[in-house]
Amino acid sequence: AKELGRNTYQFYAAEMTARARERLALEGALRRALEREEFTLRYQPIVDLRGGRVVGVEALLRWRHPERGMVMPEQFVSIAEETGLIVPLGEWVLRTACAQCREWEAAGLPPLRLGVNISARQFQRPDLADTVARILEETGMPPKRLELELTETLLMQSLEATIAAMQRLSAMGVQLSIDDFGTGYSSLAYLKRLPIDRLKIDRSFVQDIPGDPDDAAIASAIIAIAHKLDLTVVAEGVESGAQLAFLRSHGCDVMQGYYFSEPIEPAEFAHLLATGLPA
Ligand code: C2E
Ligand code: CA
Ligand code: CA
Ligand code: CA
Repeated sequence: AKELGRNTYQFYAAEMTARARERLALEGALRRALEREEFTLRYQPIVDLRGGRVVGVEALLRWRHPERGMVMPEQFVSIAEETGLIVPLGEWVLRTACAQCREWEAAGLPPLRLGVNISARQFQRPDLADTVARILEETGMPPKRLELELTETLLMQSLEATIAAMQRLSAMGVQLSIDDFGTGYSSLAYLKRLPIDRLKIDRSFVQDIPGDPDDAAIASAIIAIAHKLDLTVVAEGVESGAQLAFLRSHGCDVMQGYYFSEPIEPAEFAHLLATGLPA
């Protein structure tokens, strides 16, 4: 057992060093990727079933790695957050997505609400609101059409500073939503206290409805609370007609998920909007 213990430890230590080295390499690669413009965005439609049309779009980050191909955000966003690289990267996302929306409009597509993910690390920066204001001005994007998607972890940081930043953005007309709602630690009281416009029900509560009674209860409770507080609700990760029917019968009409479309390239998105969603 002793022998095994030592081997396990040595194995563990070796693995740790390998992992630390890998992280360091990844950090360097991310920095270079930003300089070399290897990042790209995909766009996923957000559909309002009442009118049966696309009312919004979420910008989702991808890394087009020269050797590894398309790298998904799960594999690099947390390191970008830890190293602070998410700040310039997030600014790039915001500018690129706003510019893209304006380009679609110039091409004759209807104006959409644009959702952009903002990490807690970006929100901690006292200059976030200035950065957002500058990008809106540069791109000509109306503030009302930009929605910053925030996660509940943000609310665990310095709350007073967070509230001040939210109020500033809100006063500018920028919309704010809580992403992955239900997975974090936010108290329901925050929903009343903060200038939030929308909740996005996390995919984990959507994937097993209507079959799983607990998830069905949670999803319908979130919809009811949100509506009572005058917030709109978006269900994420809708993949099936059965999920759609359940959500709809509980009053949630705005949805996002593979059922409608995966995140796609800008040209494909424009085509989808011009031709309409598959029925
Ligand atoms: P998120 O903000 O919750 O984004 C939704 C994720 O669910 C996306 O994954 C999307 O592709 C995926 N998704 C959408 N519909 C479905 C569905 O029907 N089924 C399934 N299984 N998945 C669906 P993606 O693009 O891999 O992004 C993962 C996460 O990475 C995002 O989760 C967000 O937290 C983060 N992320 C993405 N882009 C950015 C960014 O620009 N900045 C920051 N800070 N984080 C980002
Ligand atoms: Ca999101
Ligand atoms: Ca989400
Ligand atoms: Ca999620």
